[in-house]
Amino acid sequence: MTSTSPDELRVLRDATCPACGLLCDDIRLSCSGDRIIAADRACDRGRSWFLGDHRASDLPPASVDGDAAPVASALDRAASILVAAKAPVIAGLTSATIESQSLAALLADRLGATISPDHAPEALPRILAMQRAGAVLASFGEVIHRARVILLWGVDPDRSHPRFRERLIDRPGRFVPEGRAGRTVLVVDQGASACRGWADGAIAVSEGRHTEAIQALRAAVRGVAADPLRLERQSGTPRDLWHSWADLLKAAPYGAIVFGTELAREGAAAMETLMRLLDDLNTITRCVGVPLAGPGNPSGAEAVLTGRLGAPVSVDLAGGTARYRPSDAEPWTRVRSGEADAVLVVGDLPDDLAADRPESVPLIVVGPRATARAAPGVVAIATATPGIDHGGTFSRSDEVSLPLRPAIAPDRPPAREVLASLLDRCETLRAERSLPSLPPSAGAHDAG
Ligand code: SF4
Repeated sequence: MTSTSPDELRVLRDATCPACGLLCDDIRLSCSGDRIIAADRACDRGRSWFLGDHRASDLPPASVDGDAAPVASALDRAASILVAAKAPVIAGLTSATIESQSLAALLADRLGATISPDHAPEALPRILAMQRAGAVLASFGEVIHRARVILLWGVDPDRSHPRFRERLIDRPGRFVPEGRAGRTVLVVDQGASACRGWADGAIAVSEGRHTEAIQALRAAVRGVAADPLRLERQSGTPRDLWHSWADLLKAAPYGAIVFGTELAREGAAAMETLMRLLDDLNTITRCVGVPLAGPGNPSGAEAVLTGRLGAPVSVDLAGGTARYRPSDAEPWTRVRSGEADAVLVVGDLPDDLAADRPESVPLIVVGPRATARAAPGVVAIATATPGIDHGGTFSRSDEVSLPLRPAIAPDRPPAREVLASLLDRCETLRAERSLPSLPPSAGAHDAG
C-alpha cells in the first residue's frame, strides 16, 4: 500500500475478496480515511461486500446481557459460562480466518465441547460421499491449464460465483492456449441456469432425479448395455445424448466436473455416484472434481477441523476424546434439542439460527457485528472484519490457502486475539476453581 496521510487516496493491490468461494485475489482497492471507496476487478457482489459498512461504529465493542460492557468484563463472563457448561458447543466458523478457526478448535478441545461449522448440514452429503468413495480433486490452476471439457453439474456459477467464467473458462492455460475456444462446456441443471447462455450443451434434469442422471452417464462411460427406454425414463434424457457426452469426456485428455451445493441437496447418493463417475473416467483418461464452496472460509473450517481434530465437521470432544459424529453432533441441533448448555459462535450469526436458541441457553458471539445481538443471556464481543481491517488466511474452494490483505486500520481486535484471551481466561478459571484440566485430545495442537 502506498503511504500517505490518512485522508488521501490510498491504493491496495491484490486484495482478496471473500464474498464467494473463488476468493479472487487480484482486487485493487482504493481507500480514503477509514472507507474503501472503490474495488476494481471485483464483480457486483464483491464490490458491494468491499464497499459495505464494516465499521459498525454505532455498536459497542462488547455487551453483556444486552448492556454495553468493557471487553475485559465480557471476556470474564464468557469464560465463566464456558467453564461452568457441561455440554458446550462451538458453531459459526465459516466467516473466520484459519487462525481463528484453529483457536476455536483448541478451545473446543480444552472445554470438551462439540464443534462444527455452520455450513455442515449442506456440506455433509459431499463429505460423506468423499469419505465413502474417495475423491479426485484438483486446484483451479490445474483446471485452467489442462481442462478441455468442463461439465457444470447442478451449479450455476454466473449466479453463485460471478467471475468463474472469466477465471476458469475464458482464460488461456498452458495446455489450452486458445482459452474458451479450446474448451467444451456442458451443463446439467434443472433447465434455467444462466450459464446455459454460453455453454456448448445442456441437459435439464428434474429435482430429485440427479442420481439417476449421473448413473446414466456412468453407464455410458463404462459402456454398460442398458435398455434405452428404461434409461430415458429414469434419467429423463435420451440414451444417445448421454453417450455423446460420455464420448466427449472420454476423448478429452483432461476433463473437470464442477459441482456445488445444489447437487449436494440431492443427497449423499448423488454425490457418491458422482465420485464413482470420476473414478470410472480416470480409468480411461484424466478427469477431476471441482467443488465450489460458498462465501467466507468454509473450506478452511473443514481443513482446520480435519487437521487438528480428525474430521471436517461435527466433532464431539466430551471426555477429552475427539469423536466424529456426523449424524448427531451438529451444534444447532443440540441447541434446539436442549442437549447443549452454552453456545459460542465464532463469526457471523445468521438470524434463523439466532432465533433457534432457547433463552435458557447462554450465547457468546465473537464476530464483526456481534454486539448487534445484544440481549439477555448473550455475551457479545465485536471484532475486526477479515479482509477489511485485519489480515489472516482463508482457504479457496480448491483448498488453496490465500492471505487476506487489510485495507483500513482496525478499530476492534481481531477474533484470534479475542479467542486467545478467552482461552487464557478459561484455563485460569479452571485452575482457580481447582477443576481438572481436560487432557488435550490427540491431534489438537496449540494454534500458532
Ligand atoms: S467472483 Fe466471488 S470472489 Fe471474485 S470478486 Fe466476485 S464475489 Fe468476489
